[in-house]
Amino acid sequence: MSRDPAWDVVVVGGGPAGAATAALLAARRWRVLVIDKARFPRDKPCAEFASPGVGIVLRRIGAWEAVQALRPRRLRGMQLIGPSGERFAGTYPRGRALALPRPQLDQALLDVARRRGATVWEGTRVHDLLREGRRISGVSAATGSSPARHMAARLVVGADGLHSTVARHTDAIRPGWWPQRTGLVTHCEHIDGLSALASYGEMHVRPGAYVGLAPLPGGRVNVALVLPGRAVRQRGKDIESLFWHELAQFPALGSRLARAQRTKPLLGTGPLRRRVPVAAGPGYLLVGDAAGFLDPFTGEGIYRALRGAELAAAAADAALRTPAAADAALAAYCRARQRAFRPKEALCLLVQAFIAYPPLLEYALRRLRRRPELGQMLMGALGDTHAPWTALAPATLAALLRP
Ligand SMILES: Cc1cc2nc3c(=O)[nH]c(=O)nc-3n(C[C@H](O)[C@H](O)[C@H](O)COP(=O)(O)OP(=O)(O)OC[C@H]3O[C@@H](n4cnc5c(N)ncnc54)[C@H](O)[C@@H]3O)c2cc1C
Repeated sequence: MSRDPAWDVVVVGGGPAGAATAALLAARRWRVLVIDKARFPRDKPCAEFASPGVGIVLRRIGAWEAVQALRPRRLRGMQLIGPSGERFAGTYPRGRALALPRPQLDQALLDVARRRGATVWEGTRVHDLLREGRRISGVSAATGSSPARHMAARLVVGADGLHSTVARHTDAIRPGWWPQRTGLVTHCEHIDGLSALASYGEMHVRPGAYVGLAPLPGGRVNVALVLPGRAVRQRGKDIESLFWHELAQFPALGSRLARAQRTKPLLGTGPLRRRVPVAAGPGYLLVGDAAGFLDPFTGEGIYRALRGAELAAAAADAALRTPAAADAALAAYCRARQRAFRPKEALCLLVQAFIAYPPLLEYALRRLRRRPELGQMLMGALGDTHAPWTALAPATLAALLRP
C-alpha cells in the first residue's frame, strides 16, 4: 500500500450526503474522489419533500442558488389525516419545505461538488475496503465489467445510503427492534382534491401503513406509500396492484383516485430501518443513511444527510490536518452526531407511538387543531428549524393529551 495515496478522501456515494461532504472538503483544498455506482441523474425512492431546515443548510454549504434554479415547489406545511378522517394542517413556523424530484436535486448537489474541485466517477461500484491492520485505507471499485481497481485514501467516507457497503464491511450495522417496513414510491397526476396550487403536502395514516403526497413542480404529485415488509413479500411480483389496492384503503384518499395515473415506474426499497450506533472508526466515517435510518414519516432524511455532511467534513478536515489526532477527531464526530440528531430521533419515536395507535393519533390531531401554538412548536421541530426539546417536554405532552 502506498504511503502517499493519490486521494485524501474517497467518498463512496454521490447522493446528498456524499455530494455535500465532497463539496465542503474540496472547498478546503483536499483531493476528493466521489465514487457512485449510478449514473446521474439517478432516481431514488423518496417522498421528495425537503424540510425547511434543508434550506438553511443549503445556504450554509453554498448550494442554495443551485437548488433554487430547479424551481422547487415551496410548501407551507403538511396536513396529517388520521384513519377516520380527523385532520390537522400543520404550518411551518419558519421557512418553507421544498418539493422537487430527487434526480434533479441530487444532480445539482453533485455538480456543486464538481465545481468545488471534487473528482466524480459515476457508474463505478465499491465492492470492498482496503485495510492496513485495523485501519481502513481505501476502497476496491469496478466500473462495469472491468477488473476492480484499488484506490488508496487517507480517509474513506461511507455515504452509500441505506444498504451501505462501507457500513457492512466495517461491521457498523446492529440489529434493531424496529418493524420491517417497505417504501413504494412513484409520481402520479390527476389525484382529485389536490390542486396544482396546493401549498401543503398530505400525510394519511391508517393502522400499519401511511402514505405521503407531495405536490411537485409541473402538476405531478409524489406518492410515497410505506407498509409492513411482509405485505410486500406476500404479494410477490404483483406490486402494482398491491400499491393501488393499499392506496384505496386510506379513507380520505381512496375516493380521490378514480382518475389518478402513474407517470413513472414504481420504486421500492426496504427494510427501511438501519441501526448504526457508531458512525466512524480508524480511517473511515459514515454519513447520511449509511450512518443510520429510522423511518421516513417525519421526513428528515435529506436534512440529516446535509447536516451530517457538515459535521463529517469538519471531522475529516481535522483528521487530515492532524493525523496523530485523527482517531480523536473521528470519535468527536460520533458525539457531534449524537448531539445533533438524538433529540429529533426521540421526537420521531414519539410520533411513531402516536401513528401506531390510531385512536391516540386522532385524539392528538383534534387537540392540535384546538391548540395552534402546540402545532407550531411541533412543526418547527419536525421541520428541522427548531430544537425538539420544547416539543419533547413533559409539559408539552401533557398539554397535548389533557382532555
Ligand atoms: C420511501 C422513502 C421516502 C422518503 N422520503 C423522504 C422525504 O420526503 N424527505 C426526506 O428528507 N427524506 C426522505 N427519505 C429519506 C431520504 O431519501 C434519505 O435519507 C436520503 O436520500 C439520504 O441521502 P444519502 O446521500 O445518505 O443516500 P442516498 O441518497 O441513498 O445516496 C447514496 C448513493 O450511494 C450510491 N451507492 C450505494 N452503494 C454504492 C456502492 N457500493 N458503490 C458506489 N456507490 C454506491 C447510490 O447509487 C446513491 O447514489 C425517504 C426515504 C424513503 C425510503
